[in-house]
Amino acid sequence: MPEEWTNWSKSLECRPNSIEKPRHRAELQALVRRTADRSGTLRVVGQGHSSSPLVTTADTMVSLEHMTGVESVDQRAGEAWVRPGTSLEEMGEHLLEEDLAIHNQGDINVQQLAGAIGTGTHGTGPTLGNLSSMLLGVRMINAEGQLLERHIEDNPQFIRAARVALGSLGIFTCLRIKAQPAYRLHRQEWCTGVDECMHHLPELVQQNRNFDFYWYPRSDEVKLRTLNPPGESPRLPYAQLLKEEEDWAPRVLSRTRMLAFDEMEYSLPAAAGPAAFMEIRDRIRKVHRRDVAWRTLYRTVASDDAMLSTSYARPTVTISLHHNAGLPYWEFFRDIQPIFRRYDGRPHWGKKHDLRGDDLSELYPRWQDFQNIRREMDPRGLFMTNYLRELLGAKEFSPDQVGDTGLEAR
Ligand SMILES: Cc1cc2nc3c(=O)[nH]c(=O)nc-3n(C[C@H](O)[C@H](O)[C@H](O)COP(=O)(O)OP(=O)(O)OC[C@H]3O[C@@H](n4cnc5c(N)ncnc54)[C@H](O)[C@@H]3O)c2cc1C
Repeated sequence: MPEEWTNWSKSLECRPNSIEKPRHRAELQALVRRTADRSGTLRVVGQGHSSSPLVTTADTMVSLEHMTGVESVDQRAGEAWVRPGTSLEEMGEHLLEEDLAIHNQGDINVQQLAGAIGTGTHGTGPTLGNLSSMLLGVRMINAEGQLLERHIEDNPQFIRAARVALGSLGIFTCLRIKAQPAYRLHRQEWCTGVDECMHHLPELVQQNRNFDFYWYPRSDEVKLRTLNPPGESPRLPYAQLLKEEEDWAPRVLSRTRMLAFDEMEYSLPAAAGPAAFMEIRDRIRKVHRRDVAWRTLYRTVASDDAMLSTSYARPTVTISLHHNAGLPYWEFFRDIQPIFRRYDGRPHWGKKHDLRGDDLSELYPRWQDFQNIRREMDPRGLFMTNYLRELLGAKEFSPDQVGDTGLEAR
């Protein structure tokens, strides 16, 4: 009986033919070759924290959870080679021992490095790119089971495709990432009203290294979070300080999430952020307030040049809708989605949305360049499923040529 797989929030499930956990590269290469020889398909999974069906499959799922650890560090260059299954937390602690740290983290740090990079996971800060922007080079297994090594210095277009690739180009076996000297941050959390937050928003975004806010629909209050180098934290006379702490950045940027939720998030041009947020708040208060107990998160991300990055070529504001896991979420998410789309929003690749290739190609100026590289890397669709075929508009494949995606649980 095939083993059942579910994602973190349990809103996705599938029964892969097999779930493989190779212990080293040669084992992974043999698996890729065997799967290609029988014209099968293979999806690589990270920590399973995406809630879009990127990894669900009825054929082979492969987890690199045994391929972990920091392989080498070049302290002078501020770089490291890290194995794909390493969690962000584990990588952060290892780099700290070498007096290094990555430039930012998102809300949590349990994702595997390759998984976080694969969807363009980001934290907050107008000068801070998403985590994919730190990818300088890769070693990977291609669809024929061969090992390739590519670097930004000699193959910039490939790395710009690989930075956000959803596991569609091949399987990363080691990632070369940019780090910086280890740094400490002072974290503060504040409570205030929406009007005060929106009035002070430009300076909150510009004057803090990391700033974001949560809006709670039921109370109509907001929680502000600011992180700054020690001694550079703000005083906010219009907000009540709830708590504060100081530590090395990797230990203070992320939090542990006990309560599971599903999420829709869109990235918008930064200038549109405030108006889009106010429109979304109005709509939630009018239509969803009784059902939607949970919060909406507002963050910023620097512009970058990865072909499928949601921050490609534009300073970005992200707005995420959180809904408690187990509750029906589509009615809420689909009601708000048109507002995101009107503001030229790009959906987070790893969260709920229902856009497909024809919609997405309009949002990414380098869409075709990415597709050309993908077709070259995987001409027979080893890394495809029906969901990915539709998502990436891979019209060269018919539904019966690629793997079934499995089921969405609700
Ligand atoms: C509680 C929670 C908090 C979150 N917070 C944030 C946040 O703050 N910011 C944000 O942007 N997102 C956030 N996310 C989304 C999350 O960071 C992304 O969905 C991320 O991709 C999950 O990483 P993962 O290791 O679980 O990868 P998975 O979801 O398992 O996989 C993601 C993608 O990576 C690919 N992949 C995995 N390993 C490899 C490999 N070795 N080679 C090639 N491709 C590979 C997979 O094929 C897949 O396409 C959050 C999600 C949850 C559930």
